[in-house]
Amino acid sequence: MNQLQSLTQIQSDALWPSPETHLAEMTPDIPVLYLSPARLRGQAGRFLRHFPGQVTYAVKANPHPVVLRNLVAAGITAFDVASPAEMEAVRSASAAAVLHYNNPIRSEAEVAAGVAFGVYSWSIDDARSLAQLANVPRHCEVAVRFALPVAGAAYDFGTKFGASPEEAIDLLRQVAALGFRPALCFHPGTQCEDPSAWIAYMQAAKEIAACANVQLARLNLGGGFAARHYGTPPDLEPVLLALGQANRRLFGAAGPDLLCEPGRAMVSDAFTLAVRIKGMRDGGDVVFLNDGIYGGLMDLRDMGLPHRLRVVSPDGALRQGAVKARQVFGPTCDSLDQLPDGVPLPVECTVGDYLLFEGLGAYSLAMSTRFNGYGLSELVTVQSLVPRISDERSGQGGVSG
Ligand SMILES: *Cc1c(COP(=O)(O)O)cnc(C)c1O
Repeated sequence: MNQLQSLTQIQSDALWPSPETHLAEMTPDIPVLYLSPARLRGQAGRFLRHFPGQVTYAVKANPHPVVLRNLVAAGITAFDVASPAEMEAVRSASAAAVLHYNNPIRSEAEVAAGVAFGVYSWSIDDARSLAQLANVPRHCEVAVRFALPVAGAAYDFGTKFGASPEEAIDLLRQVAALGFRPALCFHPGTQCEDPSAWIAYMQAAKEIAACANVQLARLNLGGGFAARHYGTPPDLEPVLLALGQANRRLFGAAGPDLLCEPGRAMVSDAFTLAVRIKGMRDGGDVVFLNDGIYGGLMDLRDMGLPHRLRVVSPDGALRQGAVKARQVFGPTCDSLDQLPDGVPLPVECTVGDYLLFEGLGAYSLAMSTRFNGYGLSELVTVQSLVPRISDERSGQGGVSG
């Protein structure tokens, strides 16, 4: 509740020119997530322009009301939700938003909540999850989620949900026989850098539909699109183009309508996370931050260190020059609260400085806990995520010393 209050308050705040200007003026002692609404809408625009189908947003990546409202303003009309709380968050941002409930394990109360919220698309992956939909109106879509063993993603979503292709044939037949709009869905895994992961699934979807003798209304390609801050993933546009081409090649002109559900790739780059150095030991070889893997940096545990990181002094000036690999800990008393080994930080950085991790919009705020009384709760909107020339002239950021 506390968090929510501060979050609602925040969006009426004026836009700051850059993270550096805010840090220099406010010297916050808690971690701060900086959002560029322009960057977020720009990314939504790229998906909308280049994906040959419906673009939805996977709310779990970042359910902040400002994120949802900006995506609605950018033209996103449908959302992938996994719980009644996410449905509520979406409805608060847009009364007309279309809900796709893509968590096949539901309690009876959750099914009832989905019906009450008017969910349009439901994913299922076994007989029980289908049987639970007896009260769902027949104009709704039911998508059979299936899973293949696919390499190439950073994190395998197939181990938890998804019928085998054989089971999917039978389930798809039943979905059609019950009078729902028949669809198939999958998730190739997050931070997927190779379009062939989706295309292998599309090929399997074609075979499943053919064996079931069901004309697919839609094929949901899930999320998994790569964000920029881990290595150098392929550009988004060629990946989206390849998926449209694969659909035509596999299914011909009468193929299913496509939809996708980016989470990470939609929001990552619109945010920069600023955390502060609160202690140093062993001549600076060991660094303690005011945020860690129980807070906004939780995703680093699975994904590794983001490549774009800069350090600024409390007056917003960039620390430049030689770097040294450090051991970096978060603020809690748990020794697991540690960043991946060897974080390269400038030799001259010191207690009170800020580390700015670019591209930390996904799975940061959403996963942050209050363990030990720490955690990420502050969001500030900025015009630009990097300081501009005019800021440099005034001495705020971008220059050293
Ligand atoms: C998590 C999830 C997504 C988003 O995945 P990203 O890798 O963040 O793009 C999309 N669809 C479903 C069903 C999910 O569970």
